[in-house]
This record gives sequence, structure tokens and C-alpha cells, in this order.
Amino acid sequence: MRAQTLRAGVLALQGGVAEHAAMLEQLGATVTLVRRASDLIGPDGPRLDALVLPGGESSTQDRLLRTFDIADPLREVIAGGLPTLGTCAGLILLARAVQDPAPGQRTLGLLDVRVRRNALGAQVASIEAEFTVQAAEVSGLGALGDVRGALIRAPEIVSVGAGARVLAVRDGRILAATSLPPGATPGATTPESRLPLGSMTGIAFHPEISGDPAFHRALLAQAR
Ligand code: GLN
Repeated sequence: MRAQTLRAGVLALQGGVAEHAAMLEQLGATVTLVRRASDLIGPDGPRLDALVLPGGESSTQDRLLRTFDIADPLREVIAGGLPTLGTCAGLILLARAVQDPAPGQRTLGLLDVRVRRNALGAQVASIEAEFTVQAAEVSGLGALGDVRGALIRAPEIVSVGAGARVLAVRDGRILAATSLPPGATPGATTPESRLPLGSMTGIAFHPEISGDPAFHRALLAQAR
């Protein structure tokens, strides 16, 4: 285990940054609000041990990432294995493909899932509900178990490719997925299987709004 405090970044161009930052700080991390490429990579390499891509509006975030020249360095550090958690719009940014994009909208194309924007949870009537996360096991932390989260105009994961695995299903809809860890065998998951998290995890809901730290704790455990 690392002796020094973990450095967690939250992409802070737009969206629900504060709840993630507060949760990571409560878990003992030092938080950097990422607004430029130099927040991600310094002269000595990556500056962060873990990263959160928050919810918000994915098409706006995409535009700002490209306007401020952060898209490429962001893709580089995440592809390089930086433990990364994307919620809602953050999941859309991570995804390989997006259905119903805004005009010109792109994604980072890293997590092997296809998402459909605005599939779940109307803005005015966003719901909070208990989700069952299937047997995710992280560095001895044990199963994530039932995680609380809110759906706010959330994307749905409509397909999961060979490079990712399903983490959470609710009412037949896939709400979370993780990249395939190195050495893992591609294949469908069963509820019984033990699922290590890959370096990228994308979830359609917002545990940070519901105050459930399970995913953030898992993210920081991966960073150690
Ligand atoms: N609908 C938003 C989008 O397309 C996502 C909503 C959210 O992050 N809560 O980016």
C-alpha cells in the first residue's frame, strides 16, 4: 500500500464535479480539479493516481475537451491504465460508441461498450433506486454489493464488446460495465462469477448524489 496520499482527479470542465470531489476527499484522497492537460501530465509523467469523469452534458464536455486540447492527453492517460470511473456523461465519454449523439459529438472511444444517450430517467422526475452490482471484487475489498444511485437523463449501455464486462443490471438494462482486466478471459459474466474491475469503469447512474462511496472506494483501492 502506498504511504503517501492518493492523488485523484475530477474532470472539471462542466457538470457535477463537487459531489465527486467531496466523496474522494472523504475517502482520504487529495483532489485535483482537471481543467487543462498539465493537470493530467507533468514533466515527470502522469500527475494522478485515479480519475473521475463526472456527469453533466456529454456533448458539452466533448466540445470543451477538444477546445482546450485535453481530449488527446486524457485518452492517453486513461488508455495507459490510469484507474478511471465515469458516471453518466462520463460513461458516454469513455464509450467506444454512442447512439443518438448530439451533432458532431465524439467520445474518447476507450471502453468497449455502446451507449444510448438520454435513455433513462427524465430530468424532472429523476429517480433514486437500489442497484445490484454483480459480484464485483476489487483488491480484497469484497463484493460491491447493492449500490445506491440516481438516474438523471442517464445513458443505457446497449451492448458490451469483448473488451468489457457487465457490472450492473437493473430491470434488464445494463447500467454499469468495466474494462477487461489484463489476463482476464473475455466472455459473458454470470452473477456467480467474481469480477475484478478493469482500469475503466463506466456507470449510468450517480452514486455520488446518493452518497454511496462503494465505487469511489473501489477506484482508490485500484490506485494503490
Ligand atoms: N444526458 C446527459 C448526456 O448526454 C447525461 C446526463 C448525466 O450525466 N446525468 O451527457
